[in-house]
Amino acid sequence: MADGILYLVATPIGNLEDITLRALRVLKEVDLVAAEDTRHSRKLFNHFGITTSLTSFFQHNEAAKGERIIELLRQGKSVALISDAGTPAISDPGYLLVCRCHEERLPVTAIPGPCAVVVALSLSGLPVARFAFDGFLPAKSGARREVFAGVANEYQRTVAYYEAPHRLLAALHDLRDVLGAERQIAIVRELTKIHEELFRGSADEALEHFGQSRVRGEIVLMIAPAMVKPPQETVREALRRLGADPDLSRRDIVKQVARQFGLSGSEVYKESLDMDDEMEGING
Ligand code: SAM
Repeated sequence: MADGILYLVATPIGNLEDITLRALRVLKEVDLVAAEDTRHSRKLFNHFGITTSLTSFFQHNEAAKGERIIELLRQGKSVALISDAGTPAISDPGYLLVCRCHEERLPVTAIPGPCAVVVALSLSGLPVARFAFDGFLPAKSGARREVFAGVANEYQRTVAYYEAPHRLLAALHDLRDVLGAERQIAIVRELTKIHEELFRGSADEALEHFGQSRVRGEIVLMIAPAMVKPPQETVREALRRLGADPDLSRRDIVKQVARQFGLSGSEVYKESLDMDDEMEGING
């Protein structure tokens, strides 16, 4: 008998419409759905008329429950893993089970969908050609300050964290102390929900903004690379400026501009092609 498949199914992070047709089909067709909180997932199931059996699968039963799921897969049963919201295994249970399936050479596949950190980064308007995700910020100030100290010299990547609303202000105080009042950040709250909010600005401005009232909802905090300020010149202006230097090839120019704006080389190269009449005469 063929082994069953483990499906890692992404579910909405707020708005219930953010679920794929494939996710709905798989959740209806599998033999069992392992969910972080079965009561929470039952609401999703009721909304979409899904009647598949649910079993709980959370941090503290992950190892034991995982072995039971491995047995079911061996018996040819298919299982879907979901978390309360978003993509399984991303700051949620799943890693151990996925690892065990790979060890046992059992088939695992992903049904992609929402993931709060990815949605946050794409919405932030911060440079995201390169980024890092560092999970939840530590709850204690000392540990948090150490984490922030680690990004003081991060000149290349935007770094993102999940944070609890009741700790946001304390985290922002630590961030300002360690990284300076001017460090550019972005904060998203309640993505895909009615009260969705995007804040962009300096650490100081964030304290001013979020210090006004009690912070609620789900939050992703992102720190821009050091020294990244709103660009003084546009990409085209930078290409034009460097294009005037006869010693620079197009390759050198694209590289420099990509670094300056935190963009990928291919994006800048395409922009330089679009303004080819102005860049005439530059070595290819
Ligand atoms: N696996 C999930 C994912 O793919 O996004 C993340 C689970 S983690 C336990 C929950 C954290 O994700 C929240 O505390 C918050 O920081 C972030 N998050 C989840 N949903 C969000 C939303 N709608 N808006 C902003 N942040 C969200």
